[in-house]
Amino acid sequence: MNQTETLTQLKAFVRQSATLESVLATLEWDQQTYMPDQAGEHRSEQVAMLAAMVHQRKTDAQLGEWLSNLDEGEFAGGDENDDATTVRMVRRAFERQSKMPESLVTNLAKACSKGQQQWARARHEQRFDLFADTLEEIVRLKQQQADAIGFEASPYDALLDEYEPGMTVAKLTPILAGLRSDLVPLIAAIADSSCHAPVELLHRIFPVAQQEVIGRQAASEIGFDFERGRLDVTHHPFCTELGPDDTRITTRYDESFFSGSFFGTLHEAGHGIYQQGLRSAWYGLPPGTYVSLGMHESQSRLWENQVGRSQPFWQYYFPKVQAAFASTLQDVTVDSWFFAVNHVAPSLIRVEADEATYNLHIIIRFELEQSLIGGQLSVKDLPEAWNQKYRDYLGIEPANDAEGVLQDVHWSAGLFGYFPTYTLGNLYAAQLFDAADRELGGLPALMAQGEFTPLRDWLHEKIHRKGQTLDAATMARQATGEELSHQALLRHLRAKLAPLYQLD
Ligand code: ZN
Repeated sequence: MNQTETLTQLKAFVRQSATLESVLATLEWDQQTYMPDQAGEHRSEQVAMLAAMVHQRKTDAQLGEWLSNLDEGEFAGGDENDDATTVRMVRRAFERQSKMPESLVTNLAKACSKGQQQWARARHEQRFDLFADTLEEIVRLKQQQADAIGFEASPYDALLDEYEPGMTVAKLTPILAGLRSDLVPLIAAIADSSCHAPVELLHRIFPVAQQEVIGRQAASEIGFDFERGRLDVTHHPFCTELGPDDTRITTRYDESFFSGSFFGTLHEAGHGIYQQGLRSAWYGLPPGTYVSLGMHESQSRLWENQVGRSQPFWQYYFPKVQAAFASTLQDVTVDSWFFAVNHVAPSLIRVEADEATYNLHIIIRFELEQSLIGGQLSVKDLPEAWNQKYRDYLGIEPANDAEGVLQDVHWSAGLFGYFPTYTLGNLYAAQLFDAADRELGGLPALMAQGEFTPLRDWLHEKIHRKGQTLDAATMARQATGEELSHQALLRHLRAKLAPLYQLD
């Protein structure tokens, strides 16, 4: 068989695996949205069965044979073309899987299953000790995983690379340290400011039926295509791709809080626009797949924050919101509304944090998990280390472990190296928005007129259509003409927040 035939077979096989995975995703989406409560047991069986089939295909020996046939020759290099990208990225995933001993995979799955149950109980009872032993085991297994996969400088690199291919501790640490040392005084100054955002405006009564209409309309205006996607309700909002023309996003509504569903919907719609902007012809293959979690998050944050929390956006959109909630918002001005949606204050819970303090929550987790995996911090000392960093960076301290070290599910699920992708998303979002603003000649004026298509198309061209042909950092560098840095994000936050809080 010549290499072209081998490649054709490999592509068909990988695409079929993706189709099988999309069946799994459909079942999981249904489970989160419409499945009746009693159906859980059979659904677990369906999911477990399909997951095993998907796993088997990903480690299939045939895949290894095709890849070794393609070891040298025209598809083997580091080229950016679609075929070479396919071979390079399929090989990367296959090699990562193959390096993991079967026993380690099983032990990790067991420890994380036990871990998540214990974590839920420990959080409920506010007792870290109920979860400590299993977390220790998970950390040990993740260290083994890093060793098995291999790394050059830091074991944490091997874990980070799973979510953000090509990113390393050495590249990320100085950027996050720079962000931290500029953010800490900015947030302290805001906390000391005598100006207060009128947050009560967001906690008035917003009937859910109107929230649904306005959220759907906003998602559609920024470019989420409802002919190729849906918006439904779940307890934990997410975005999932069920097929090349089927992107599902979800949200949740709270009658007495406007921001949760509105900005949550913009966020998930941003993820959805990325999925919808991928090239359908390459569905299930690396050129038609998102490049990294950090880049995915940049797309959601850009629409949620750079666009959705900007003054021009509200200049355009506030009259619509005010009309939808006429009796609730008749006495409210666009300026006070704009201040309210940009409220910044140190707080303990990451998922409720504002645009500015959010990054400190992530930096804390990045520093701690690096020390855990590197062996400099032991699990028993983790709660105190956590509390110390909250005191140092945010000037506040959790009253108990439930609102401290136990608040996130990630570590109990073995997701070490995942947190930094959230802040990477914010960094990329700020740099991409600036670059689009320069190239498109003034995004604020466009946004004030409700013109979002130029920005969406720019992102389609610079990011979405590229799939995995470049790594995320290179893609961002080509799109922005700059190296990854924290300056754009900091400029964005300062420019918006300094006038609101009257900082010098
Ligand atoms: Zn997200």
